[in-house]
Amino acid sequence: MWTREPDDTVLDENGSVVYFSLERFVRDLCLGDCCFIYGAAPGTVSFNDEHVIPRWLLRRYDLFAASITLPNGSAIRYDRYTVPCCSACNTLMGRKIEEPVRALVEGGFGAVQAHQEQHGVLLFYVWMGLIFLKTHLKDRRLRAHLDARKGVAPIAEELKYDWGGLHYLHTLLRCFATGAAIHPSALGSFVAIRVQEEGSRSEFDFGDLYQAQSVMLRMGAFAFLAAFNDGGAAALFLKQKLERITGPVSGMQLRELAAELAFLNAHLKEHTELRSSFDLQGERHGIDGKPMWPELVTLDYTVRGQLMHYLFQRNLPMIKSHKFSDAELETQMLAGRLTFLFDEDGKFIEDSRAPAQASAPPEA
Ligand SMILES: [Zn+2]
Repeated sequence: MWTREPDDTVLDENGSVVYFSLERFVRDLCLGDCCFIYGAAPGTVSFNDEHVIPRWLLRRYDLFAASITLPNGSAIRYDRYTVPCCSACNTLMGRKIEEPVRALVEGGFGAVQAHQEQHGVLLFYVWMGLIFLKTHLKDRRLRAHLDARKGVAPIAEELKYDWGGLHYLHTLLRCFATGAAIHPSALGSFVAIRVQEEGSRSEFDFGDLYQAQSVMLRMGAFAFLAAFNDGGAAALFLKQKLERITGPVSGMQLRELAAELAFLNAHLKEHTELRSSFDLQGERHGIDGKPMWPELVTLDYTVRGQLMHYLFQRNLPMIKSHKFSDAELETQMLAGRLTFLFDEDGKFIEDSRAPAQASAPPEA
């Protein structure tokens, strides 16, 4: 029989954590060095830390020496960017998540689609969610450590940060280990999309938009987009654009779609509130999302502009348009009026080298 601790943590008969309370999640996993899946303390079991971007992807795209830029502006090499994970959890995660995803990714877009049709998106969603979670568990800890130099903030102060979303995502993502039943209403958006192959150098791409809880990962001829707190509503609105896309997108068009998904998520009237229910006697944990009506508030296109600019800043000097000067192009982008996806007639631009259009994207 499971038991509930005074802080709300739920333990099984062996003392393993079925559910982390928010306080314990922040103390042990975000600020502490415990295993990020089951919370084993350092020194109590063997650890082999988990790469934020899985090792098989680092190998496949030769990314060990490449670096990721964190939202706080610091750059860390992928091969050194890890979160604490014990050997047992790492093995379990490999068997339940990494190996199946790797086989499907290596099988190509057809294999990914077939899996989605037969089994739904949970496997890919959890995989993308783990990458997002790992990115930010570490980022938060780095920030807390940096802040600590200015004076150690008590844990209650740390809790004031927005840990809530990450805490609930963590609870959901652990389903592969805990066996928690996930109701479809608990899931956010997941989109798999075909991408044009433009030579080996651009085959891998990763875009992380923390504020809008969304992430983009490109692996060769296809990419995954996900948002984690929207109950699937951002993808529902994005569908109006996706339906007009008649072929594989270019790398730039993919980044625009990542910005667009985040833009839509940022403008949802409501975001999902995840709820856990426990049957301690029967040892069951269920997670669902509080019902929400997908509705957008008035769209502020400068937000779209900022998201686009964030994802394109390094490419900006390479983007040329016969319609605009470089400065005008940047201004149009920041205004949220630039699109690489559709021409002035709203037709999908199949030639990725075509100049950027600047038009008001239709109201979603
Ligand atoms: Zn562990």
